[in-house]
Amino acid sequence: MRFVFEAGHGLSTAGKRTPDGEKEWSFNNKQLLACQNFLKNYEGVQILRVDDPSGKRDVPLKERTDKSNRFGADAYVSFHNNAVSGAKYGDHEGMETYSYMGRNPKSEKLQKAIHKHLIKATKNKDRGRKEANFHVLRETKCAAVLTESFFMDSKNDIKKLRDDSYLKATGEAIAKGIVECYELKKKSKKPKPDYVGKRAESIYKGSDGLNFYSKATFNKKYRAGVLKYQYGFPKILRKLKVEGANMFEVKNSKGKTYYITASEKYIRVE
Ligand SMILES: [Zn+2]
Repeated sequence: MRFVFEAGHGLSTAGKRTPDGEKEWSFNNKQLLACQNFLKNYEGVQILRVDDPSGKRDVPLKERTDKSNRFGADAYVSFHNNAVSGAKYGDHEGMETYSYMGRNPKSEKLQKAIHKHLIKATKNKDRGRKEANFHVLRETKCAAVLTESFFMDSKNDIKKLRDDSYLKATGEAIAKGIVECYELKKKSKKPKPDYVGKRAESIYKGSDGLNFYSKATFNKKYRAGVLKYQYGFPKILRKLKVEGANMFEVKNSKGKTYYITASEKYIRVE
């Protein structure tokens, strides 16, 4: 799945700040990064950012949507925070999301999912799912949603905007909406250890050779044979803790299973 994100305006775009001069882009950017980070844990996700990640350049909207269309995006999310005038703090507050005017089932489905998770995460006043004729919603060929998570000039919301944990939760809520909408699968936690399937070779130069065993033990009773220097087993199956040390479970060329020390002093994984 291909997702396109952007953090609204540029850092120094006129207006677009709190009455105290804090920049909207900085809030949007933290939400975007949290969203992006969250989605890294899911399979098959490609993300393209179409604003300037440093915030310095206010990338024109046409450039953003052209890039998104060329990328072949499945969904486009524009991260914003709201203001009435930005001149002074007022009693207004809350969250709203936007999709393009008229019926667009793909965008509405994404909007619904994002909206639901945003409300849950921000516990903001729900100002509703809305429609608008915004360039980024109209000119994108994929599902497209614009979020206005908080009011920058709200007496209430500004407290949350100044709290990074809220910004993170907001970004992650948007990600959760995306995960739900596109039924993304979480990456499996444990990658296969890098020694599995590789050859184990003795680097022990002693003339007595390196013992290997028919059971997972260092007990001589189960000694099955001896590996000479540079001899080995073609396939490591797994590593296990045995009597306070590590052993490899290995297979020989005939498919028989044996056990041998996994100590790097004696065994090289190839
Ligand atoms: Zn904005």
